[in-house]
Amino acid sequence: MRYADAGYNLEIDLTRGNIEKVESDPRDTELYLGGLGTNAKIMWDRVPPEIDAFAPENVLIFSAGLLCGTPALSANRTMVTSISPQTKLFQYSMMGGFWSPELKFAGYDKVIMRGKAPNLVYIWINNDKVEIRDASHLHGKGAVETQELIKAELNEPKAQVAAIGLAGENRVFFASIEQARSSCSRGGLGAVMGSKNVKAIAVRGTKNINLARPAEFMKLMEEVKRYTIWRNENPIPNYMPILAGLGSPQEMKHDDEKWHTENFSWGNSRTRRRGFWNKDIAEDWKKTMATMQNRLISCFNCPNKCGATLTPPGQPTYMMKCFTKLTYTMAAYSDLAFGLSIAQKATEYGIDGYSGPQVMAFGLELLEAGILSEADFAGMPEDNDGKFYWLLDRIVRREGIGDILADGTYWAAERIGKGAHAFAHNNIRKHEQLPLKLGTMDPIYYLLYCCNEKATVTQIEGNFPQAPFATQEEKDAFVSDWFQCPSERIKEVVRKWSFKGEYAGPYYPTPELCSEIVDWQERMHYVDDCVGMCAGMSSFPLKPPYHLFNYPQIISAASGIEMDTDELVKVTKRVRNLVRANNIIRGLRRVDEVPPEDHWNKRFPELEKELLDTYYKYKGWNNDGVPTKELLHELNLDYVAEDFEKRGIYSETPSYELAAQKEKEV
Ligand code: SF4
Repeated sequence: MRYADAGYNLEIDLTRGNIEKVESDPRDTELYLGGLGTNAKIMWDRVPPEIDAFAPENVLIFSAGLLCGTPALSANRTMVTSISPQTKLFQYSMMGGFWSPELKFAGYDKVIMRGKAPNLVYIWINNDKVEIRDASHLHGKGAVETQELIKAELNEPKAQVAAIGLAGENRVFFASIEQARSSCSRGGLGAVMGSKNVKAIAVRGTKNINLARPAEFMKLMEEVKRYTIWRNENPIPNYMPILAGLGSPQEMKHDDEKWHTENFSWGNSRTRRRGFWNKDIAEDWKKTMATMQNRLISCFNCPNKCGATLTPPGQPTYMMKCFTKLTYTMAAYSDLAFGLSIAQKATEYGIDGYSGPQVMAFGLELLEAGILSEADFAGMPEDNDGKFYWLLDRIVRREGIGDILADGTYWAAERIGKGAHAFAHNNIRKHEQLPLKLGTMDPIYYLLYCCNEKATVTQIEGNFPQAPFATQEEKDAFVSDWFQCPSERIKEVVRKWSFKGEYAGPYYPTPELCSEIVDWQERMHYVDDCVGMCAGMSSFPLKPPYHLFNYPQIISAASGIEMDTDELVKVTKRVRNLVRANNIIRGLRRVDEVPPEDHWNKRFPELEKELLDTYYKYKGWNNDGVPTKELLHELNLDYVAEDFEKRGIYSETPSYELAAQKEKEV
C-alpha cells in the first residue's frame, strides 16, 4: 500500500486526446519525495534542452506535494513545473488554495500534460472519471470567471478549478494560473498552459489518502498546531510587524505601509520616495482598504488567513494577498484605490503581479526617453491611471505595442533595440525582480539573488533574520529559543551581527557563514516545495512550526519512508542539484548569476567574487556553477554526471573566461 502519496499520476496526451492513469515508482518518492522533486526528475527524463517552452513536446506538470491531502496543517501547495518562455529555463511556481488536496482526494499525485489540444479544452477530473472537454465557449473569459462557469456547467460547486485568463491564451510571457485564493504567478507557466490550448483543470475527489502511522502523525500535528497558536500570539519582538508572525507577509491585515512605500522603488523600479508616507495618505489608504476588503481568508487547512477578498466599486470580487497590494500602485505612482482596482482586472486576465506592472512602467519610460514613439501608443489616454489600464489591455491581447511588451522587459528590449536594454534594468535570468534598490551590498542577499533557480528572492529567503537586531539583549533573546536553527555557528552570527563595526556587513557574516545561512534557507524551501507545504508555515517566516528537526518525523509517519535529519538534508540536496542540472543543460552558468547592476548603490566586486567562489565550493559545484561528478555520485545522480560528460559540459571553457575574452575583443 502507498502512504501519503496517491501512487498514481494522470498522463494526458493533448494532441491525441489520450488519458492514462499510471502508477508511479515508490523508489522515486524515496529519492525525490514528491512535488518539485519528482517533477524535476520527470522534466529531466522527458524534456531535452532543445525543446522550446511552447513546443508540444514540452511537458506541463501540476503536482501535489507529498503531504497534501493528509491532515498536515497548511500542506496545500500545487507545484506547477515546465520550461519558462521568459527565462528559457526550468521553472516551478506554486499556488496555494485548495486544488492539490482535491487532486489527492481524486487519487492522483500529478497531472502530466504533453502535446497540444487541437482546440481550447478543459480537463475534468472526477475521481476515476477523467475527460477532456471542449472549452471554446470559455475563450477570452477571465481566470476567476472561468472557475465559476466551469463549476456551474459541471454542477459541481465543490470542484476546484485552476484556470488561465486571456493573457495565458495569448501566451503573454508572464501569464499566471489562478485558483480560488491563490495564483501560480512567476515564470509564465500560464502561457505554457495556453500554448497547449488548456483553459482550465477542474478536479473533484472524494477518496482517502493513507497514512503509514496515523496516531504518531496526528500527535506530531497536535504539536505543530499548538506551536502555531503560540507563535501567532507571540510575534517576534522588535521586528517589522508584517514579518513578525507566520504566513506570507500579512499585507491584508496591516495598514502601515511606511516601510514598503519608502524603501521599495516606484515606477519601473526607479524612485525611492523617502517621506512619502504621511498622515493624509495613511488615512486615505486605510479608508480604501476598509471600503474594498470583505474578509480575510485562508488556504486549505490553515488558520493564518493571509489573503482577503476584495470588491472594488463596480467590479467583481477577487482575492489578493501579499505584495500585489502595492505593485500596481507603486509602478504607476498612484494610490491604493487604483492599485486594488487594476489588480482585479489583472487577476482576471491572469498576469503576474510582479512582472506585469514593471513591464507597463518600462514601456512608458521608453516612450518618455524617445525610444518608443507616440505612434506606438496611439489611442492611449492622457491620464496616468488610464495609461496603465490601456497598456494592460494591449498586453493581454498582444495588440500593437502590447505584443512586444507581452514578452517581458528583457525580450521586449531585445525586439525594440535602440538602447532599450538599459531600461530593462531589474532582471535576473531575464526575469523581473522585486522593485527594490538599496544602499550597501548585502552578502547573504547577494547569494540569494544570484543563485536561486526560481529567480525570485522572496521564495528562497526566510528563516534567517533580514537585518541585525539593534541591541545585545534583543539578539540574545532571539537566539534563546531558536530551536529551528540547525547550527551553533548561525546562532553565533545573530549574537554578533551589527549595523556598525567589526560585525557589520558587507564583510560580516564571512563568505563561509553566508554560504551556510543561504544553504539552510534554500533547503527549507526545497523541502516545502517537495512536500507541498506553504512556505508561510515553514521556510519563509522566522521560527516556523515546521523545521528540519520535526519534518523528518512528520514525513516518516505520513509516508513510511525512514527518515532522519541527515537523510532529509541528503534528499533536498539531491533535488536542489537535479533542479540545477535541468538548468545547466539549458546553458545556465556562472555569468548568469548576477544581480541587477543597480540593485545596490555600493558594490564590492572582489568580495562578490569571493562570495560566489565560496558558495559554489560549499555546494560541491565547480567554479562555473556546475555540480561536480563526485557530488552527483554521492547523491545517486550519476545519470546527470554522465549526461554532462556526453554534452561536454565538464570540458568546456568556463563561462566567465568566455565573457572576458569577448570583452577583450570588443
Ligand atoms: S499561511 Fe497563508 S498563504 Fe500559507 S496556507 Fe496559510 S493562509 Fe495560505
